[in-house]
Amino acid sequence: MDEMTGRILIAEATAEQRILLRAKLASAFYTVTTAESGAEALRLAAATPPDLVIAGSMLPDMCGTTFCTRLRALGGHRDTPLVLRSDEDRPEERLALLAVGADDVIARSDGELLLARLRNLLSHARTRDEMRMRDDTQRALGLAEAPQGFSRPPKITLLPLTADPALDATAAQLRIALDAQLRTAEPERLLAARAPASEAIILIDTGCGAGSGLALLSQLRMQRRGHPPCIVYVTGPGQPEITAKALDLGADDVLSGGLDPLELALRLPRLISRARRVQSHRKALRKGLRAAVTDPLTGLHNRRYALPHLARMLEQAQQQAEPLAILLADLDHFKSVNDRCGHPVGDQVLAATARTLARDLRSADLVARFGGEEFLIALPNTDAAQALAAAEKLCRRVATQPLCAPQVTISIGLALSYGPDTAEEALKRADQALYRAKHAGRNQVHLGRTALAPPSLQDAPRALRR
Ligand code: GH3
Ligand code: MG
Ligand code: MG
Repeated sequence: MDEMTGRILIAEATAEQRILLRAKLASAFYTVTTAESGAEALRLAAATPPDLVIAGSMLPDMCGTTFCTRLRALGGHRDTPLVLRSDEDRPEERLALLAVGADDVIARSDGELLLARLRNLLSHARTRDEMRMRDDTQRALGLAEAPQGFSRPPKITLLPLTADPALDATAAQLRIALDAQLRTAEPERLLAARAPASEAIILIDTGCGAGSGLALLSQLRMQRRGHPPCIVYVTGPGQPEITAKALDLGADDVLSGGLDPLELALRLPRLISRARRVQSHRKALRKGLRAAVTDPLTGLHNRRYALPHLARMLEQAQQQAEPLAILLADLDHFKSVNDRCGHPVGDQVLAATARTLARDLRSADLVARFGGEEFLIALPNTDAAQALAAAEKLCRRVATQPLCAPQVTISIGLALSYGPDTAEEALKRADQALYRAKHAGRNQVHLGRTALAPPSLQDAPRALRR
């Protein structure tokens, strides 16, 4: 899709309509291609897929329903936004066109409404394109989710602005047509966040004082609890300005001829299944992101997460002038555990050790699997004495943790950061300390040289002997 606007294909029978519409769309910065017949438009759409199609409801070679049906049947055009234009608003025709896949039917006289509708449809199409791209990426990463069916009945809230005695009958019809969980709410309750979440809100602005629902629409759009619902704005007939405004204020769809249950039943399923797709994509994306930063064996964060996180922790420590303790813990002679007991038992020992290390952590602490049998622990606002005590406790705990394998121990290299420092430098000091702990006999903690540390603790070796 063009970065800013979009490519639009027009199919109109008369030269006059083509010229008028082309001028209107060009002035709104769309790129326009025109066709004189349905067949020509279908040919063009197949050759160079447009971002959106506008067609007259009566073309020289076919009627609007045939055109919709044939466009939808073209490869790749199942979701291409499609708007039909007619000279007069005939509800039966509109319903027939919606039923064969038109996104909307707009009177030729409603120029502003058409533009608002194009913005609305193109922005939905953009979201869809982004989701497709993510789909591809996730499939490539092996993270694709099974597509979600339309199995649950949708939860729909009717929101009348004024009392309407006919609403109960309409609601009953909708409940049957959509197999929906339907309820009626009052604006105050819905805004007060006390009402249960619904997937679609039908804002009914058909009483006197037309347009009075637009402010409510903006407010609903701004509400950010749970998943944003689809909003359908309903006006009485002959109010294209209000309808256009509703679309620009974020209504997902509009009903411009009053609350017609048949029309709503044609429009809502597409909206709701689209919203469900977006929602399940977001979920899959979050899950994918989590998987990308989690070590599957231990459930701890992995190195990819730990490094940038450690850098942020260091930054924060410096800002708050608090010490940050960094521990590198490495299992002792772990190769021999694998050699003696086998790799699967080695895996169990790793997982058990991870649990032991992660026990009793504060929420701000970081524990990550940093390498094969090496763990990184970072403790904010922890000075050298506290860090040594914590590290020694971890050594003791690992050495005594219950295992269905020979007992293992860890060695820990400890680095304190009291001031300007990079993650790389701090990790290097911790690694050097770890090296010394290994050489001094393992199962012990060594404190690394500490830049800007209290002098008494500079390079203080501190061994834990059991
Ligand atoms: P040291 O006390 O000097 O650290 O000795 P070590 O044997 O622990 O160190 P070395 O680096 O020689 O060996 C590390 C071993 O850790 C080798 C490797 O097979 C094992 N290892 C690394 N990742 C895993 C894993 O995911 N599962 C299992 N079972 N073993 C692992
Ligand atoms: Mg080791
Ligand atoms: Mg190692």
